[in-house]
Amino acid sequence: MQNGNIHFFNTLTHQKEKFVSIEPGKVKMYTCGPTVYDYIHIGNLRAFLFEDIVRRWLEYRGFQVTQVMNVTDVDDRTIKASKALGIPIKQHTECFIKAFFEDIEALNIEKADYYPKATEHIPEMVALVKKLLEKGYAYRGEDNSVYFAISKFKDYGKLARIQVGDLKAGARVKVDEYAKEEASDFVVWKAWDKDDGDVFWVTEIGKGRPGWHIECSAMSMKYLGETFDIHCGGVDNMFPHHENEIAQSEAATGKKFVNYWLHNEHLLVEGKKMAKRLHNYYTLKDLMAKGYDPMAIRYLMMSAHYGQQINFTFEGLEAARKTLERLTNFVNRLLETNGKPAGDKINQLNEGVQKGFEAAMDDDLNVSVALAHLFDFVRDVNNLLDNGEVSKEEGKGICDLMSKFDKVLGVIGQVKEKEKLSKEAEELINRREDARKNKDWKTADQIRDQLKTMGIVIEDTAQGIRWRIEKD
Ligand SMILES: [Zn+2]
Repeated sequence: MQNGNIHFFNTLTHQKEKFVSIEPGKVKMYTCGPTVYDYIHIGNLRAFLFEDIVRRWLEYRGFQVTQVMNVTDVDDRTIKASKALGIPIKQHTECFIKAFFEDIEALNIEKADYYPKATEHIPEMVALVKKLLEKGYAYRGEDNSVYFAISKFKDYGKLARIQVGDLKAGARVKVDEYAKEEASDFVVWKAWDKDDGDVFWVTEIGKGRPGWHIECSAMSMKYLGETFDIHCGGVDNMFPHHENEIAQSEAATGKKFVNYWLHNEHLLVEGKKMAKRLHNYYTLKDLMAKGYDPMAIRYLMMSAHYGQQINFTFEGLEAARKTLERLTNFVNRLLETNGKPAGDKINQLNEGVQKGFEAAMDDDLNVSVALAHLFDFVRDVNNLLDNGEVSKEEGKGICDLMSKFDKVLGVIGQVKEKEKLSKEAEELINRREDARKNKDWKTADQIRDQLKTMGIVIEDTAQGIRWRIEKD
């Protein structure tokens, strides 16, 4: 089966490569999910949106995708945060798991097939640690924790491209997060200590809890097999998290862990790295509470290439909202058109935009170029519509094409859904129609004004009345 000609930039090889799945027509894909110690911020959401586009594009090209996104509900941060509040860790994380699902739904992110929780996969993690101990890749420290010996794994550093000097051998790190410069033996199983409180499991390898990195190795391989196609994540997780995932998994199985590693770049807010102390730190709920449309947020965050930093600004958000309005108005015009057939002109435009859009997306998901093709197309078709061209049938054909693109973009359908009129507005529009038929212009105008105060603009056209929702 031929599934297009997709090329991805593979972090592992530092090259753009043609994507070939292990099993024809099927893709197995893992994405590092949220650490549920707090509300996720829009930087996290950029990663989930990028992964959504990866998945949607593979599906557009006919692949059947199995996606796993883990939920980290036990690690250093979740323990620290629940302790600070003095509540059980489960109670703490459940609240943020719920919030996470609300966010991805609001952004129209397709659901993964599995959302495994770390706390529900402790036996799998223990089995993996045992294997590493048996094979001599891991050892027990004097604190009774188990560490991965990076000197035993000759490929250590291949993903993040770091050289591990001899001096580093034997140095140990017990925390989940650390910098490249601190590369050293990392913890795979943390022996209980008093800071962990009541967070521990009594297992064959002792009383304790898993290290963060082993969680993803165990859960990804359980659902996707020892070797799978794609692993995605934010660039900030490349080291140490993904590097350690490779080391643990490949040391345990002796097989290649993942064929394609895809990393998205950071999101900046108003040109700066997001930080609470800079007051430029936002969750989706913050933005929605300020009245911003999640579809505009989705559009803004996915419209740049994932490999580039994106600058999130309120000006950009406003521009995104207007762009979506243009797209929706375009679709509305197409639904109503009844002009003279444009024939070959339309066929050529349809063919051109599809070719351009697909080639750009196949080229390492170049969304910005794909969108440029789309907007050239919108402009050209709008020109035809202005000239009274585009028949009803042609309009429908273009709408179908737009829906096809929107399966990937995931924005127009959502906007249109929300634009459904309220019952009240619908009745008013009908009453106004009756008034016009009876040449009762006064009532018709009154109703028009009333609708205007509800944010609904009525236009009388040769084809009948048209309405649109005005957001300003
Ligand atoms: Zn992970």
